[in-house]
Amino acid sequence: MPTDELVNPATAPTLPTGPVPGGAGPDGGVLPGGVAEVAAPDGAAGTDETARRRRPGLSPSRANDFLQCPLLFRFRVVDRLPEPPSAAAVRGTLVHAVLENLYDAPAGTRTPQTARALVPQEWDRLVTERPEVVEVLEDPEDVEAWFSGAGALLDTYFTLEDPNRLEPAEREMAVATSLEDGLELRGIVDRLDVAPDGAIRIVDYKTGRSPREGYESGALFQMRFYALVVSRLRGRAPAMLQLVYLGDGVVLRHCPDPAELATTERRIRAIWAGIRSAAETGRWLPRTSALCGWCAHQSVCPAFGGEPPDLPAGAVELALGITPRD
Ligand code: SF4
Repeated sequence: MPTDELVNPATAPTLPTGPVPGGAGPDGGVLPGGVAEVAAPDGAAGTDETARRRRPGLSPSRANDFLQCPLLFRFRVVDRLPEPPSAAAVRGTLVHAVLENLYDAPAGTRTPQTARALVPQEWDRLVTERPEVVEVLEDPEDVEAWFSGAGALLDTYFTLEDPNRLEPAEREMAVATSLEDGLELRGIVDRLDVAPDGAIRIVDYKTGRSPREGYESGALFQMRFYALVVSRLRGRAPAMLQLVYLGDGVVLRHCPDPAELATTERRIRAIWAGIRSAAETGRWLPRTSALCGWCAHQSVCPAFGGEPPDLPAGAVELALGITPRD
């Protein structure tokens, strides 16, 4: 994949321009302006949830999991093995929640102070919903330092965009669309901006650092995936895909063309064909890489001397809607 498909504005001044609802700002030279996938709690699946899970479906995160390692995909999607929360993931969830709710404040009052003031309440909400997140604090007394770390990322956000000059059309928008063969594409778009002329921009916040040159393909695939879904839902292809990296204060933008959305659809179908083959044959092969160091499942991975658990009867059908061959 060409490395210049994502554009760093710091090095590429010739970006597309467009109007910004509410006026032009630091971000006003461009078209105006997150998945966390939430699995149903074990045992909480009702009829609707069961039906949803039996419908073949794929999100960009899980597609990337399969590309990284088919066995990791199985552990996450079929076995649904628990994973301890990581500090980076919890901080990301917290910052996303603040950025979502920041836009509830009237334009003109969306300041770094406003954002920082949202951190404790969003943390409390997160702890209420998912008590295990406190495990990322080595010491409960660290919570102020934890808030400060999230606050620093939010401060960076204000160096990249002026939220007072934006009125998002959607925030944390769950999207889903079905391809002709029934495969459902799902995800959560952090922010969707719509210009007065109807032009659409998809924005995704990342709390990590921007990828090194040549390593943008995963993030770009995710954004193209969303662009494909949004184009089907809205009958108009997004004009811009924008990744906002708060870890190092970089914004990457990409203007997709129709041909690459068609290519993305073909790629998704190919990934799904690979998942179907693995599900039908039971061959969920481990694929080792440097990313194994971050995998929570080394103890049950054959590549590290482990033994995968036996799959309960019906687990594959329930998770993927695919019946294994005998
Ligand atoms: S340790 Fe590596 S090879 Fe094994 S399941 Fe995890 S990602 Fe795959």
